[in-house]
Amino acid sequence: EICGKYGNNRARLMDIVQEVQERIGHVPREAFGLIADEANTHRVEVESVVSFYAFLSDNKKGDVVIRLCDDIIDRFKGGEAVGEALCKALGIGFGETTGDGSITLEKTPCIGMSDQAPAMMVNDTVVTNLTPESIPGIIRQLQENPDPQALVHETGDGINADPLVHAMVNNHIREAGPVILANYRRDAGLRKALTQAPEEVIEDVKNSGLRGRGGAGFLTGLKWELTRQSPGTDKFVLCNADEGEPGTFKDRVLLTERADLVLEGMTVAAYAIGAETGIIYLRGEYAYLRAYLEDTMNQRRAANLLGINILGKEGFNFDVRIQMGAGAYVCGEETSLISSCEGTRGDPTDRTPFPVVKGYMVSPTAVNNVESYCCAARIMDMGPGWFSGIGTDRSAGTKLLSVCGDCERPGIYEVPFGTRLGDILERAGADDVACVCVGGPSGQMVGPAQFGLGISYEELSTGGSMMVFSNQRDILEVADAFMEFFVDESCGYCVPCRVGNVLLKKRLERVRKGEGAQSDLDYLQRLGESVKFTSRCGLGQTSPNPVLSTLKNFRPVYNALVKDNGDGLQKSFNIMKAVEAASAIAGRRSEIFHA
Ligand code: SF4
Repeated sequence: EICGKYGNNRARLMDIVQEVQERIGHVPREAFGLIADEANTHRVEVESVVSFYAFLSDNKKGDVVIRLCDDIIDRFKGGEAVGEALCKALGIGFGETTGDGSITLEKTPCIGMSDQAPAMMVNDTVVTNLTPESIPGIIRQLQENPDPQALVHETGDGINADPLVHAMVNNHIREAGPVILANYRRDAGLRKALTQAPEEVIEDVKNSGLRGRGGAGFLTGLKWELTRQSPGTDKFVLCNADEGEPGTFKDRVLLTERADLVLEGMTVAAYAIGAETGIIYLRGEYAYLRAYLEDTMNQRRAANLLGINILGKEGFNFDVRIQMGAGAYVCGEETSLISSCEGTRGDPTDRTPFPVVKGYMVSPTAVNNVESYCCAARIMDMGPGWFSGIGTDRSAGTKLLSVCGDCERPGIYEVPFGTRLGDILERAGADDVACVCVGGPSGQMVGPAQFGLGISYEELSTGGSMMVFSNQRDILEVADAFMEFFVDESCGYCVPCRVGNVLLKKRLERVRKGEGAQSDLDYLQRLGESVKFTSRCGLGQTSPNPVLSTLKNFRPVYNALVKDNGDGLQKSFNIMKAVEAASAIAGRRSEIFHA
C-alpha cells in the first residue's frame, strides 16, 4: 500500500521507508525484500538506505524517541546536566529503551535550535530551553500522555504560533534587514518575472550579483543560465533546506516567517530555467514544519501560484514536493542531497558533471539555498540595481546570521554584507569574547584580531552560523568537539576524510592533554592541509578547518600546551603520572621516585 502510494517508484524509496517507520516505529529487516520487490529495486538498496540515515532504524525503538541535541553550544548551556536528568528520570542510558518499550533515549548533532539551547526532539516535536529541573515533569507528562505534541505549552513569535507548527520554538528575529525580513510585496517578484522572457529574468539575477547563500558563493544567475542552456527536456529546481551546519538556524526561521517568499523564488527559478518540478529537501530535524509548508503550498495552488498555467501564463507549469531528510549532515552537500532525493544513500558524487548539467534524475538541476530563493524573488520585485547597491562590490545584498553561544541576544540578524564582525557581536550583547566560529565547524574559528573584518565572501564568508565563545571557554575543546562531529558525519567513502579526521582528532586530544610537542602541531598542519586537498566532497574539504583555523588564529593556546613550546625549555616529564598505573598494579608507592 505504501509503495503504491509512491507509484512503486524506486526514486521515492526515502519516502517509502520513512512512512513504514512512521507507521510501525521501525523498518523491519523482514520487510526489506518486500519493499524492494514493490519499489522495483534491490534488497541491498533498501538495506543501505535504512542503515545510512541516523533517523531510520531496522530495530524497534520506543513509541517515543527522545533525541537530545549534543552540539557544543548545547553542552556549554547545560546539555550534559539535562542528559543526566533524562537518564535518571527514565532509568536508562543513551542508546537504550525503557523496559516497557515506551521511550528510547538518544543523542543527536545540532537540531537547529542553538538560540534556545539545550533542546531536544521528542519524535518530531521540538522542546527547547531545557533545564535539569524541567526534565522530570516532561518525562512524567510523556508517560501519562505519549503524544509529544501535548508537551508544547508555549509557542514562539510571529507565524510560529500557527496551529500547524507544533514546537516550543521562538524565532528570535533581532534585526530585520531590507531584503528578506522587512515587509515585502507578496508575489510581486513572480508577477514581474512573468512579464519578462526567461533569459531577461536570468540577466536580472546575474546583474544583481546574487551569490549562493549556502556558503560556496557561486553566482546564482550564472547557475540558472547554465541549467537553462544544458540539453534536456526535464529540468528541476531543488531547494536545499538541509541546514545541518552546527550553530545555524536561519533557514528554520525563513521557512516559518517567509515560506511564501521561498516558494516564490523557486517559482521564479523554474520559469527562468524551464522546470516543471521543484523539491524542497527539508532536514529531518525540521519535520515539525512539514504540515505548515504543505499547507502553504496548497494555498499557493489554490491561488494559481503553483500548478498549471501559473498566474495565467500559458504553458508555465510548476509544482513542488517536499523530500524529508533523515539525519545526515552530508546531505547538505548538493550532490548528496540529489542522491537522497533520488531515494538512495546520501552519497556525494563526483563533479563533473555538475548538477546544472546532470543533477536530479540525470537532468539539469539548479540547487539553491532557502535564503538564495528569497533574495531572487526580492530582486525580481525591486530590481537588480537595488540589490547590488546593498553590501559590498563583491558581496551584494544582505546576509542572515544565526548568532548563538555566549551572548545576551542570540537569534537572527539580517545585515548588509560588509558589516564588521565586532559590530554584530556588540549588537548581540557579546562581550568578553575569545573566539567566534564563523560559518560553523566547516568555517573558521577567529579571535579578536579578526573582529574588524566584514562579513562577506571576500573577508569572512559564512553560510550563516556564528557561534560565540567567551574567555571562560576552552577553545581547543570546541575544536575537538567539531572534529568529533566530522568523524561521525563522514560518509566513509574516501580515505582522507574517513581516516584523516580520526587522526586529526586523536592528535588534537594528545595536545590537549599536554602530551604533545611542536612536531605534533606541524603534523596537524600537514595532515589538515592534506585532508582538505584530497577529500572528495565539501565535507572532507572543510572538515580540518577547526584545527587549521585554531592553529592559525590561536597559536599561543597550542604553544602553551606543547612540551617544547618555544620558551627554550623542555617541560619536565611527569614520571609520577607515568608510573601511577604500574605502581598500583605492583602495589608499590610511587613516592619512591621522589627519593
Ligand atoms: Fe564522504 Fe568525506 Fe569523502 Fe565526502 S569527503 S565523500 S563525506 S568520506
